[in-house]
Amino acid sequence: MSGGGPIAKVVPDLGPAAPAGVYDYLVPKELQDELTLGQRVVVPFGRRRVFGMVVALAQESQVDHLRSVERIRDPEPLLLPAQISLAHWISGHYLTPLPEVIRAMVPPAMRGGRADARPVRRRSRAESPEAEMAAEAPELNLSSEQMAAFLPIEEAVRWSRFQEFLLFGVTGSGKTEIYLAAIRAAQERGRGAIVLIPEISLTPQTVARFARHHGSRVAVLHSGLTPGQRGSEWRRVRSGQVQVVVGSRSAVFAPMPNCGVIIVDEEDSTSYKQYDRVPRYHAVEVARRLGRILSVPVVMGSATPRLETYHLAQTRGSPQLLRLSQRYNQRPLPPVRVVDLREELAWGNRSPLSRDLVTAVDGAIAEGGQVILFLNRRGTSSVVLCRSCGEALGCPECSVSLTLHLPGRLCRCHYCGHFEELPDACPSCGSALLRALGAGTERVEAEAAQRWAGARILRMDRDTVGHRDAHREIYEAFAERRADILIGTQMVAKGWDLPGVRLVGIVNADIALHFPDFRASERTFSLLTQVAGRAGRGDEPAEVILQTYSPEHPAVLRAVEHDYEGFAREEVEVRRRLGYPPFTRLLVVTRSDPREDLARQDCEREGARLREALQGKGIEVLGPSPAFIPRLRSLHRWQLTLKGTRMEDVAELLPSGRGWALDVDPA
Ligand code: ADP
Ligand code: ZN
Ligand code: ZN
Repeated sequence: MSGGGPIAKVVPDLGPAAPAGVYDYLVPKELQDELTLGQRVVVPFGRRRVFGMVVALAQESQVDHLRSVERIRDPEPLLLPAQISLAHWISGHYLTPLPEVIRAMVPPAMRGGRADARPVRRRSRAESPEAEMAAEAPELNLSSEQMAAFLPIEEAVRWSRFQEFLLFGVTGSGKTEIYLAAIRAAQERGRGAIVLIPEISLTPQTVARFARHHGSRVAVLHSGLTPGQRGSEWRRVRSGQVQVVVGSRSAVFAPMPNCGVIIVDEEDSTSYKQYDRVPRYHAVEVARRLGRILSVPVVMGSATPRLETYHLAQTRGSPQLLRLSQRYNQRPLPPVRVVDLREELAWGNRSPLSRDLVTAVDGAIAEGGQVILFLNRRGTSSVVLCRSCGEALGCPECSVSLTLHLPGRLCRCHYCGHFEELPDACPSCGSALLRALGAGTERVEAEAAQRWAGARILRMDRDTVGHRDAHREIYEAFAERRADILIGTQMVAKGWDLPGVRLVGIVNADIALHFPDFRASERTFSLLTQVAGRAGRGDEPAEVILQTYSPEHPAVLRAVEHDYEGFAREEVEVRRRLGYPPFTRLLVVTRSDPREDLARQDCEREGARLREALQGKGIEVLGPSPAFIPRLRSLHRWQLTLKGTRMEDVAELLPSGRGWALDVDPA
């Protein structure tokens, strides 16, 4: 075993209230042979004895009069050496103290004194006979295009080599089949796989696909597990009994002892970014780093990759781009028809459903098909749109949409803080038809119920899906064709493979388009493409109807043509011109306080200080501005946005402590 130096750096577990630091302890002679990284130990802390995690070993310490590690709590390390390395990287990259990272990695049931004291037992080879694998695992017969994409992955798995792949395949092209093949290749080498999928795709349908191939040796990790369940799945993974971990974002921390490949499905999903608590990590970036540390390939799949990922593939060749340009069985992508809502309004139709969409729904139902009506309603009724020309009120500096704040009728930019009064007329065309954007799913449901009285209608959004079972019930009802029309938010956009869907109606494409974020255009394109991809998976012809006030917008035009690469080429140039990622990095500093003036003043003061300190360093300080969610849990939130190419150097300059939060590479 690794002897280690005589100094152990330990993160003591002081309970949820007290964020700990990293402390040095002497390793007494009798423990020097056994003590290793990731182990839990017992250390003196003040007048107490506490558990702690060994996060580094060293020969020297800056501190005099060190106390000693008392004993080793569990001989088997709780975290693997690779995870400890990963924790250090996350801490540095996301400017988060190491103890907070460790805390996020280890589930609550495994921490503190409550964890069961039984050390994890390592299985010997003899104990895990081949018979335990799913014996009747189905055949995988990859098409020639799929095979061409799989071979480089297989080679990297075989040689256990760190290599990144971007599996760029249209919806329904068989990306999941390739993941299954990659997992099998790892399994043939006696190694396991970590598979990340977006939380909303963790449907029984998806999980069943992995379970068909790997039986009981699949562990599923998602946010719906109780702490107890999470703890026991975690232990099962740690003990080596699991071949495949399928899970959402935090599954990247699964302690798999012999991982041979890491897979991230729909790598552009926003659910991979943890934005609401520390560490504010991006699971795809963490997965990439883990692959590097473990020396195993990382496969990122998407029909609409993040622009950053695609740009890397284009300019550096890493990740290696693997294309799947056809749907499996040569099924065509569905045609997308655009309905201009300005004309609809001019004609006198104020309903959220255009005449064309109504006719198409009529037709689809008459032929026994199913319909999805998609509406992305969330958080956006505050964007102001001109109903005549389709332009949204935008920031003159940042080219993102302004957000209307009532009362006061002030329109504000969330990046630079620019604000103006709500104008009486549209600045582009002079029309007085300026309106806040967006009818919700409920309104559409009411309309649909009225129009298609005989149809069976379901609605799926945050309000109807209070718990996981509700999501499954609605999904199953629709999949089993117990309903004709499904109305839903982006919950229905991703991953579903339902052959009965003959028509997808995008009720309002503009809502995502005018999201006050520089990624709005990219998100819109992705969302439209994903939603459109739900149609035409069966044998009957299908179509997509896309309603918009902005039919000329590049994101809309390119989505209509299913042309990701065209979109990406243009959007990359926009980003380059405006200095947004991937050409710069962003860092958001948020100050929250019950008193709004205090939050704002603190931001102003820190903003001025940072501007001065960062002069000539190529980092711009924007703001202060109200946060995108200006008030959360009775706290007012103001923020500064830093924009530059190198963010590592600013760490020491940033304000920290109570009320301050940092978000590196915000999404
Ligand atoms: P994606 O993950 O790219 O959206 P899927 O893996 O879900 O695509 O494939 C779409 C459909 O085509 C699924 O029903 C899948 O079972 C089927 N399919 C794809 N490739 C194959 C294959 N090689 N053999 C059999 N069925 C396949
Ligand atoms: Zn206008
Ligand atoms: Zn601005």
